[in-house]
Amino acid sequence: MAWMCSGKTNDELVNNLVKGQIISAPQVISAMRAVDRAHFTKCDPYADSPQGIGFGATISAPHMHGYALEELQQFLQPGMCALDVGSGSGYLTACMAKMVGSSGYVVGVEHISELAEQSRAALQAHYPEWIDSRRVEIVTGDGRKGYINEAPYDCIHVGAASPVKPVELLAQLMAPGRMFVPVGSGIQYIVVYDKDARGNITEEMLMGVRYVPLTDAPAYNSG
Ligand code: SAH
Repeated sequence: MAWMCSGKTNDELVNNLVKGQIISAPQVISAMRAVDRAHFTKCDPYADSPQGIGFGATISAPHMHGYALEELQQFLQPGMCALDVGSGSGYLTACMAKMVGSSGYVVGVEHISELAEQSRAALQAHYPEWIDSRRVEIVTGDGRKGYINEAPYDCIHVGAASPVKPVELLAQLMAPGRMFVPVGSGIQYIVVYDKDARGNITEEMLMGVRYVPLTDAPAYNSG
């Protein structure tokens, strides 16, 4: 009952995600407590639903962020390296940065340059040491191609739907590594891809979802 998880404060929202059995891993709970959603979206930050963040984009619902962090938490241990494709508000990127700690690295790739700038500004304002130490970075670009400069990654989160199996991103996954990605056009499913130590990939369909698709950068993009 994910839609029941709304709160009046960030702590209340996190408590409700725990009660609703969306999140349970201590590292996930503490990351979602440490990163206040209100730093990344002004409108109804603690409602358990997607909210508009400008430029035609949305911040995903808290329960989807919770599911993603739970699925990826083994690959967001201190010192690990992660990629967040379609980083939008930067909220989930920040949670991932909290989890990987000061010796880890997370890069968000967002194709709307204004949104990338907005999320960078939010991170700089509220978690300046993460930006200054390059624990977290937001780059403007086509996330369908990943971010080869820092590949491979222990885990990859994709915040918009890939119409087909994202082979280019899978190539940037470490062995072992894990990817959380909505796949499909029309009917979409969250697919978790696991790459084992020998590079063999298996996949598991978790649940039906409705995400915006990964697209070409919009014409009004200034960057
Ligand atoms: N996970 C983010 C955003 C989810 S919305 C959050 O919760 O805040 C999906 C995001 O993917 C949007 O910001 C959209 O601009 C971005 N996006 C769509 N196609 C993309 C592409 N090809 N490359 C990079 N970002 C993309």
